[in-house]
Amino acid sequence: MNGDNARLADAVPTCSCGGHCAQIVMTITLPGRNAPAALVRNVPAEVCQNCGETQFSIPVTVRLMSLLQGSQQPEDVAIVPVYNLAK
Ligand SMILES: [Zn+2]
Repeated sequence: MNGDNARLADAVPTCSCGGHCAQIVMTITLPGRNAPAALVRNVPAEVCQNCGETQFSIPVTVRLMSLLQGSQQPEDVAIVPVYNLAK
C-alpha cells in the first residue's frame, strides 16, 4: 500500500520553519537606480504566520530584479522623508 498519504501539492506556501504563510500585498523599498531608494507598490508576498519571515515567489523576485535594472519606468516619482534612528 503506497501513496495513501502522498502529499497533495499545497497551494499554501510553507515557511522553512514549518509555519504556514499568508498571502499579502505590500509596498517595499528597493535600492533606486537613479535615486537613493525606490518604492514598489502591490508586491505579492508570503508572510509566515509562525516566525514572521517575508518571502517572495521566484516570478516576483525576477520582476523586482528587472526593476532594479531599469526594465520599467516608474509610474510616479515622489520625494520621501528619510529618518535615521542612529541620531
Ligand atoms: Zn516561518
